[in-house]
Amino acid sequence: MAIKKIIAANWKENPGTAKEAEALFSAVMRAAASVPSVRVVVCPPSVFIGSVGNLMRTQAGRISANFALGAQDVFWEDEGAFTGGVGPRILRGLGVRYAIIGHSERRRFFGETDEMVERKARAAREGGIVPIVCVGEPHEVRRKGIAAAKRFLAVQLRKGLKGIADPDRRGKGKELIVAYEPVWAIGSGNNDRPADAAVIAAFIKTMVPGAKVLYGGSVNEGNVREYTQSDEIDGALVGGASLKADAFKKIIHTI
Ligand code: PEP
Repeated sequence: MAIKKIIAANWKENPGTAKEAEALFSAVMRAAASVPSVRVVVCPPSVFIGSVGNLMRTQAGRISANFALGAQDVFWEDEGAFTGGVGPRILRGLGVRYAIIGHSERRRFFGETDEMVERKARAAREGGIVPIVCVGEPHEVRRKGIAAAKRFLAVQLRKGLKGIADPDRRGKGKELIVAYEPVWAIGSGNNDRPADAAVIAAFIKTMVPGAKVLYGGSVNEGNVREYTQSDEIDGALVGGASLKADAFKKIIHTI
């Protein structure tokens, strides 16, 4: 069955132990296995990627079709004197297929710039990892309206995807995902109006032809369908609700 929508679970710096990460994933796995039309991308903290990946693998050693492993970040170098760096090659070796890049928390707490996002996205793509590049405007911009938000996002997209926005340069058919995450909606319980998110997703698609667009920002089991029923929105990036097995299972089934 064709995969229709993508749900990416951003666990952030949670949970606290590998055992808890395995338990969370195991609970979700049973729910997702019966919904093959949804691709569930699980992005644990990097130190737990190996153990979650082992649970994802079938007895044949392959990751079952509706699951994929994701990382929450990727460095642009594969190897060398880059303390703390984890590049595409290391991640690929663990079975990672997707990497979140430029999340607003990385921009805020780790000083990531659009230029760094661009280097990471390019390296990920060259290393065989699908970038999930996050963009989103702060509240003071959105307060001025959708047109102001589009102007803000256009700068982030132009700079952050400079080397790969054009399908000819990134290679036709190569997957690229943009996550539209208005900063004010993340973790606030104040999700964007689905109709507005769809307008912005359509705008992102005009700027980045061929990209899939996810919406992220306080998605839960009660509102996910309002986003995913739009043709413009290809799925959701879910933070808080992905840590609650029951809520996340409902998200997968609701779609
Ligand atoms: C996120 O951090 O990517 C996110 C969307 O978080 P939340 O779902 O908690 O708003």
